[in-house]
Amino acid sequence: MANKERVTKLFLDLLKINSPSKRERKVADFLKARLQSLGFDVCEDDAGEKIGGDAGNIIAFKKGTAPGAKSIFLGAHIDTIESTDKLNVVIEGDEVRSDGTTILGADDKAGIAAILEGIESVLDSGSSHGDIQVVFNVAEEIGLMGSRAMDISQINADFGYIFDTQKPAGGITVSAPSHANMFIDIKGRAAHAGMAPEHGISAILAASNAISKMKLGRIDFETTANIGVIEGGKARNIVPDHVEIKAEARSRDESKLLAQVEHMTAVFESEAEAIGANAVVRCDREYFSFKWTQDDEIVKLAVAACNKIGIEPTFMDGGGGSDANIFNAAGIACVVVGVGYDGAHSSSERISLNDLATAAAFVQAIIETAARAEE
Ligand SMILES: [Zn+2]
Repeated sequence: MANKERVTKLFLDLLKINSPSKRERKVADFLKARLQSLGFDVCEDDAGEKIGGDAGNIIAFKKGTAPGAKSIFLGAHIDTIESTDKLNVVIEGDEVRSDGTTILGADDKAGIAAILEGIESVLDSGSSHGDIQVVFNVAEEIGLMGSRAMDISQINADFGYIFDTQKPAGGITVSAPSHANMFIDIKGRAAHAGMAPEHGISAILAASNAISKMKLGRIDFETTANIGVIEGGKARNIVPDHVEIKAEARSRDESKLLAQVEHMTAVFESEAEAIGANAVVRCDREYFSFKWTQDDEIVKLAVAACNKIGIEPTFMDGGGGSDANIFNAAGIACVVVGVGYDGAHSSSERISLNDLATAAAFVQAIIETAARAEE
């Protein structure tokens, strides 16, 4: 079984190392040494140079001892959303939190601790295991920059489990949305608003006509859309000739996302054209969705791990992006697993040490279940 005392100590040690995005050097060195001591071949890629950080992604590999086992990779991110150099850790009973003035950094240091403890427990037990790869990414919190900068062909595993979400510990996030960023540029014609308004074409009018006719907000249970920023016009007495709009759409269903983007594009274009303006719509993909079901091997393995440690499997649909979106889009199957923290990205962030131990036990159970995949 996972060692609660040991995972607690490791977690508290990690909390002491400040590692905001792009400043992960110290924690990276700590983790490389730790992985080496567990017998992993460890390398660090050049993501740090590519993104202007001081550390790269850590990719570690340990050859399996169980023939025919499924190979797995375990992932977490090593940056925190903010600096924790002023962190005062408060331990109350089973709960660890900050003193309420900073984040705790359990997102995602709890994930890191759970992975390392789960692996160490397997090695302690002497049971055979398949190939294990560990991927610790930098700069996840600032737009998945670390995983985006990574050569994902370095991941060589049947299934991946990313330990990077809130309660319940061992909960399985089987899907996440695709996310499209839209940039809309509407051009009209400037004119004096008092003397010659009929010579002007208002870009603001085109934009507002379009937005008023657009489906926005919650489109259905897995699709959302939003106009987030609108900027335009120069002065009260000039018919505005230019508006820039930033919008987004998300869906866990790729075809629904495409339909929503097409809808928004078409309405901007037609409403602009209707008054003689011109809308140019550009769309960038922030990340792509993934969706696994209980019939998929990757989920079955996670369910078996839950059963092994006596927790009820819980399935969740994600509402945002994580490194798992990047890996799935690159063809590496992975799901996100709950580590048990709560209130991430806020000063009320906290975690129960029992939940942390459960997450570590889940890691151990995943490795042991994968080892017997062929039986
Ligand atoms: Zn996170």
